[in-house]
Amino acid sequence: VTAIADPVPDMAADDRPVADTPDTAVADRPIPGEPAGARLLAGSPIAAGIRDQVAGDVEAFRRRHGRRPALAVLRLGTSPAFELYARQIVRTCTRVGIEPRESRLDGRRSVARVRQRLRELSLDPDVSGVIIQQPFPRGLSLGDVVDALDSDKDVDGITPISAGRLAMGLDAFSPATAQAAVEILDRAGRDLEGLDAVVVGRSNVVGRPVAQLLLRRHCTVTICHSRTRDLASHTRRADVLVVAAGSPGLVTGSMLKPGATVVDIGINVVDGRIVGDVDADSACAVAGAITPVPGGVGPVTNAILVRHVMIAARRLAERETRARRS
Ligand code: NDP
Repeated sequence: VTAIADPVPDMAADDRPVADTPDTAVADRPIPGEPAGARLLAGSPIAAGIRDQVAGDVEAFRRRHGRRPALAVLRLGTSPAFELYARQIVRTCTRVGIEPRESRLDGRRSVARVRQRLRELSLDPDVSGVIIQQPFPRGLSLGDVVDALDSDKDVDGITPISAGRLAMGLDAFSPATAQAAVEILDRAGRDLEGLDAVVVGRSNVVGRPVAQLLLRRHCTVTICHSRTRDLASHTRRADVLVVAAGSPGLVTGSMLKPGATVVDIGINVVDGRIVGDVDADSACAVAGAITPVPGGVGPVTNAILVRHVMIAARRLAERETRARRS
């Protein structure tokens, strides 16, 4: 059992501790029966530490402002995958004292109506943050509506402003899953500066922002995708490998550098079981540390989201105070 390293102090909103007490939860434990050195980077202790910090901050906010931070969950139709995710988010909000608010657009969902609802939520002083159902229902696309959301309430980092600021190294909310992956790496006990990091996947919600966040940690970053020639030649060079491809078992032990730290973001259902993008059995024999699926990045993602809501609430309250004074 080793104490975790403090997160790297850097520019992103996430990188600044929300509470004063550093999170010293221990995240690593040996994998029974696996060679020494292969450690399981479990997400639950990290998530619990973040939630505790946020709960304390929410209570302090409530005492100071007489209200709780609130997260609006915008549903655009029925999506079983999103329903599951939304239930988890609502549960996490409730655990830390954040008010979850359902915002539903039933019936005809035109681009204009979604944009209008996002503008209303952006202007609502009682809403601190907004998340929008994804994937979008047919006929709607994120790109058509997303700029109607105030980037100060963009707690899942989906707006072009958030993505652009992240790419420029400016203060921004990054997508919660990407932040969760890097949060686990921050606590894995390895100085990331100068390491070769390889990210498999380049989606706007996961791969790309992970790469940006690793650049901020001063890694040398390679991004791989479906057109990459000879994926293994890249992954074998990786001191740090983050996989977010949505392809079960894509990365096997023979594709890893011995001792590598591996973060498996993939969530796939195979024969009724949830598995990642990394073949856990072969990878555990080669990697130095690896996240489990399930139980790795997933739990941390929700904790990061509520942390973002808390940060957004505090910023909006400061903005209101400044507006009252001027
Ligand atoms: P997308 O489908 O949007 O993106 C997948 C990316 O992986 C693409 O960039 C694609 O390349 C690349 N890719 C696909 N197959 C290969 C391959 N064989 N070799 C190399 N690259 C490949 O998925 P997401 O980014 O949204 O999600 C990725 C995974 O993460 C999924 O399993 C998803 O379920 C999981 N996820 C987990 C979350 C969590 O909280 N743990 C949250 C969000 C997602 P190209 O761009 O060329 O098509």
